[in-house]
Amino acid sequence: MDSIKRQLTPVPFTQVHFKDDFWQPRLEVNRTATIPHIYRKLEETGRISAFDLKFEREVPSPIVFIFGDSDPAKWIEAASYSLATHPDPELQGLVDRVADKIIHAQQPDGYLNTHYIVAQPDMKWKNLRDWHEMYCAGHLMEGAVAHFQATGDSKLLEALSRYADHIDDTFGPQPGKKRGYCGHPEVELALVRLYHATGNQRYLNLAKYFVDERGAQPHYYDQEARARGDDPAKFWARTYEYCQAQVPVRQQEKVVGHAVRAMYLLSAVADLAHEFDDPTLLETCNRLWDNLITKRMYFTGGIGPSRHNEGFTMDYDLPDETAYAETCATIGLVMWNHRLLQFSGESRFADVLERGLYNGFLSGVSLEGTHFLYENPLSSAGDRHREEWFYCPCCPPNVARIIASVGNYFYSTGTSDVWVHLFAESEASLRIGDQAVKITQSTQYPWNGAVTFQVEVDQPLTFILHIRLPEWCENYQLSLNGTALNLKPESNGYLAIPHTWKSGDAVSYAMDMPIRGVWANPAVRQLEGRLAIQRGPLVYCLEGADHHAIILDRIAVDPEQVGRDFIVDFQPGLLGGVAVIHGQGALIDDRGWDNKLYRSSAPARTEIAITAVPYCVWDNRQPGEMRVWLRTA
Ligand SMILES: [Zn+2]
Repeated sequence: MDSIKRQLTPVPFTQVHFKDDFWQPRLEVNRTATIPHIYRKLEETGRISAFDLKFEREVPSPIVFIFGDSDPAKWIEAASYSLATHPDPELQGLVDRVADKIIHAQQPDGYLNTHYIVAQPDMKWKNLRDWHEMYCAGHLMEGAVAHFQATGDSKLLEALSRYADHIDDTFGPQPGKKRGYCGHPEVELALVRLYHATGNQRYLNLAKYFVDERGAQPHYYDQEARARGDDPAKFWARTYEYCQAQVPVRQQEKVVGHAVRAMYLLSAVADLAHEFDDPTLLETCNRLWDNLITKRMYFTGGIGPSRHNEGFTMDYDLPDETAYAETCATIGLVMWNHRLLQFSGESRFADVLERGLYNGFLSGVSLEGTHFLYENPLSSAGDRHREEWFYCPCCPPNVARIIASVGNYFYSTGTSDVWVHLFAESEASLRIGDQAVKITQSTQYPWNGAVTFQVEVDQPLTFILHIRLPEWCENYQLSLNGTALNLKPESNGYLAIPHTWKSGDAVSYAMDMPIRGVWANPAVRQLEGRLAIQRGPLVYCLEGADHHAIILDRIAVDPEQVGRDFIVDFQPGLLGGVAVIHGQGALIDDRGWDNKLYRSSAPARTEIAITAVPYCVWDNRQPGEMRVWLRTA
């Protein structure tokens, strides 16, 4: 049987240097504003001093305290990524101080969770379903791997390896061990990372055990509930779908339950499909991907419509104003699709990755970097605004770690291949075998679809340059050193240019980036008769700030006009420099109703100029309404 292992290897973010006006300023804001802001908030809320093990806490505690260790862990990860590309002695000192506190809190047996060490020592590992111990462990492992890779200092990595050893001693299929697994997946993908950082196969096997055992009968969560004296039928979330444990993952037909948990689990499933060359796990990913992407994903790459379970409901249930679409869930979507992309370089995964990254992810943080959205609705009556922090602050440090490492998503290499997944003015230093290849992208993406790739090599080198043809792009021109290439995309959706590359070789790629009106499948009842505006990778929205004293839901657009008459206008001084879209709409007039609730004649309409801005920068001006899906009649 053929191997299904990944043919692509991602080029790490440390090798991709942005020189653009889109990502580079966001990386700078992340470094100078977001990461320090999160540190202050972690200090203020006692999440860092918790590792001194001197706090007092009521028992039982609100769940938010139980996973408090994960927030400094994600901050260490974000700060380490930032240090890896931008040395900063002050930040380095802070990271080391937090790392030392974490190490100091570790128990002699390797256990490391501040809440259970201090507040409920007799309840360690007694409620895996609800209590997030391994979720925290996973984030600490990811932080430790990032810290080691950024600084070369292995002290935190060694501590978290001891914790992983302790977990492996405690859980597994062997006699005498608990057959448990965490209610919030995260440790599985973290153990794969820990395996790669340490070379210790034990961690990879443990990750596999956790994925294989999840949802098996007799059900561990039933057993541990009974052992605590609880009735498993009284589980507050009512279904193990919430914790991705209703059935073993290979038997899942739909993406269900808590959206972040689903994405973190499936990221590990994708990793293990590769590590163990397991086609059943890759098939599982593909089956669930089809369900998610064709029936359950918002146009912005947001996922999980419901606040009730922070997750999924049913197919085609995509309400815009009440969309939960947690920032962390889109982060998980990006992580999962990035992992799937590496198997055979199928552009459909990069399309989802790009949709999430440029829309439903970036909307999670303000332009000045210190205000965040937890939920990312596609419509707002003006009552939603970014906040400095949340009672449950999972999203801010998650945003910070993704922005600091966003270069991870741009390139991959293979034995004699380079893949370009995303576009930005940047320089990338890659390796094919023992040969160095530098690729410089010159572009104004995402404001313009023209990209020039300049290749530099030490000596002529033969490889295939695979350039992604995005799903939104219907027409393009491609040329090599000025000679037009008449290429059609390969079956994976990439344009493949085989060539013996010399320094100075240049590929010009012009992706048409028209303004598009996009409809939702008629099965999405909440979006019937509505149209969204997209240009390139960006979803657009109307904001109250551009439509004074007008209720945005009263604006209707003519689908014919959107693609034909609407115009793009780059405004360098607006919202960090964005291309806005101008056009004409019809304002449904509420005059002449004489206080009636119903009448037999249609309301009048008046023509109105409208301006759409990228969804990712909404709510960066005065508070007001916002709307992605517009009436068409
Ligand atoms: Zn979150």
